Amino acid sequence: MTIQEQYELLEKTVRGYNPAADFAQIRAAFEFADKAHDGQKRKSGEPYIIHPLAVAQIVAEELKLDSESIEAALLHDVIEDTPATHEEVARLFSPTIADLVEGVSKLTRIQYATKEDEQMENLRKMLIAMSKDIRVILIKISDRLHNMRTMEYQSPAKQKQKSLETMEIYAPIAHRLGMQRMKWELEDLSLKYLDPVGYEEIVSKLSVKQKEHDAFMQRTQEQIDSRLNDMGIQHIVYGRVKHPYSIYRKMFNQNKNLGEIFDLFAFRVVVENVGDCYNVLGVIHDIYKPILGRFKDYIGTPKPNGYQSLHTTVMGSDGIPFEVQIRTREMHEIAEYGVAAHWKYKQNGQGAGTEGKYEWVRRLLENQEGADAEDYIHSLKVDMFSDEVFVFTPNGDVQNLPAGATPIDFAYAIHSAVGNRMVGAKVNNRIVTLDHVLKNGDIVEIMTSKNAKGPSRDWMKIAKSSEARSKIRQWFKKERRDENIVNGRSSFEAELKHCGITMREVTDPEVLPTLLKKVSFASLEEMYAAIGYGGFSAQKAVSRMQGELQRAARQRQAEQQALEAAAEPKPKEEPHAAAPKHVKSEQGIIVEGLDNCLVKFSKCCTPVPGDDIVGFITRGYGVSVHRADCPNASLEKRMAPDQSGRWLKVTWGTDTNESYPTILEAVCKDRVNLLLDISAALSTTNTFVLGVNTRSTEDGFAICRLEVRVRDGSQLTALMNKLNQVSGVLKVTRPAG
Ligand code: MN
Repeated sequence: MTIQEQYELLEKTVRGYNPAADFAQIRAAFEFADKAHDGQKRKSGEPYIIHPLAVAQIVAEELKLDSESIEAALLHDVIEDTPATHEEVARLFSPTIADLVEGVSKLTRIQYATKEDEQMENLRKMLIAMSKDIRVILIKISDRLHNMRTMEYQSPAKQKQKSLETMEIYAPIAHRLGMQRMKWELEDLSLKYLDPVGYEEIVSKLSVKQKEHDAFMQRTQEQIDSRLNDMGIQHIVYGRVKHPYSIYRKMFNQNKNLGEIFDLFAFRVVVENVGDCYNVLGVIHDIYKPILGRFKDYIGTPKPNGYQSLHTTVMGSDGIPFEVQIRTREMHEIAEYGVAAHWKYKQNGQGAGTEGKYEWVRRLLENQEGADAEDYIHSLKVDMFSDEVFVFTPNGDVQNLPAGATPIDFAYAIHSAVGNRMVGAKVNNRIVTLDHVLKNGDIVEIMTSKNAKGPSRDWMKIAKSSEARSKIRQWFKKERRDENIVNGRSSFEAELKHCGITMREVTDPEVLPTLLKKVSFASLEEMYAAIGYGGFSAQKAVSRMQGELQRAARQRQAEQQALEAAAEPKPKEEPHAAAPKHVKSEQGIIVEGLDNCLVKFSKCCTPVPGDDIVGFITRGYGVSVHRADCPNASLEKRMAPDQSGRWLKVTWGTDTNESYPTILEAVCKDRVNLLLDISAALSTTNTFVLGVNTRSTEDGFAICRLEVRVRDGSQLTALMNKLNQVSGVLKVTRPAG
């Protein structure tokens, strides 16, 4: 076939499915490419234009794509391999076509090395993501198919490399896009070069049996055909032998020889509607014996890539099992041509795209049910409506990053040590700023230095991935503790100032432990460090502390008065001082020179009226009243420099309370009924008992701790005398300290 004839075949093919195509432009594209590639030869020695023509033929024949795609297929190598430019193609044809050509060239430029599975999956995703227009990947797959068909002229090394790439990357993409026919051909052609012996074995065995197979298929087809005609079901039926790679995989996976492969033959019945699919299934099961467990309803539950059909395997008349696939015409088109079929429907369908570019794919996929389908929808969305970007390391490894990622994200994705030592970055060999947004297919190189200062705090705002941000935060937490403390402290102080709180209020030793509990840190320093590296915020810290600080501030006001009063000269040496100016008392206590002061009785010595007492101005909790003989109010304590000025004179007033809780301790020789007798003694004195706690010592004594309420010292003394009379009681004391 001459080049001219081949071009005419292309026009004819396009006219067959798209009579309204722009044939003038298609011819112009052909002529432009022919001229641009003039003088170039393929490895086979043929003129180069043969290749773009053949690719356009595949795009038309297999995928039935629009005029733009045909033109782009004809032009697909001109930007890469000839002096023609993007601008030129855009001007002569259209910017869209120039973009399609540029897109295909970009995919061509990517170098693949054999990688582990994860890398392969990333490469596939990257190819799809890079093909912003789905037609780019469709043309690219057609390009690859033609190159595989003509691989015999390449060197054995190149054959192997391209075949591996096809098997690992392009065939799975074709499968993912639902294009079964192209996938099979890509797989078979790859197998031919990857395992020539295995491939030959299958092909030759199949060809030996071909007559036998043909006869069997003919017979079976006629049986099905005539029964369906009898039933009046409109249909097309045809059979095929499974393609070599699918047989190869079964032989390999199941360790079987060709004769043992269960379903070497497959028949396909294409009908008009879904109802007929199930009718045909009934007919098939009536003619042949179905093999149990082999029926699958992919109409009810479509496959993840959108595939729909009924599958069943039955036993043929002469003991040969075969598979039957039953589907509607539409299901068939989608199964064979996948996404491309949808593209075609969209083109011919109602009103030219008011909807978004891939809206149709999205809707199609979203209408499908089943968990598998959902997974597919997700992966396809990720692929096509991308929130990911794929870039290369200088070694050719693919890194998968969130869209909008920067060299910072890339560096931390490689390793935190790379990120922490980064001093700069190159993208496609050019130095870029660290906030440079990476694009699909970029080759990114990170420049590091041992003397790098480490990440800057701004990086946290630039980084897109949470991985990078958390690694940066980690660094600040570990490496810059001192700096964090300084920074954390200054933002904490700024926030305090903003809220009108002084640092002294926070560091007050009476209040600080409560505040630290509120923010869950062991010390202020640790809190500063956390604020410094961003693990905690100054705003949060202050807002959590505020309640407690306000409470302390109110208290401090009262204390301030107390301190002022205490500062006045005290007639310490004269117990008979003149009656205090103020006689108002709280809980029966008169605090010298002070009204309405919060008073509490210390737990250590539980004073009762009549005891000599002394007061201590606490920070935050008013005046604490101790017995004068309490060890906590000893002279040394009263003279201690940090407490001077806080001790003050207090006296019992006349308006004391009904009763005061206090504690007694009795040391006894342990005996039967001791506690009973103590209780009896207590009851004769009309004492209100709050609690009794007795413990026996190993040497036969018992310590009895009594918490009681008494009116005053004299009632208490009477009670103690009574207890002393109980047999076995050796000593009764008022514990203190
Ligand atoms: Mn090409």
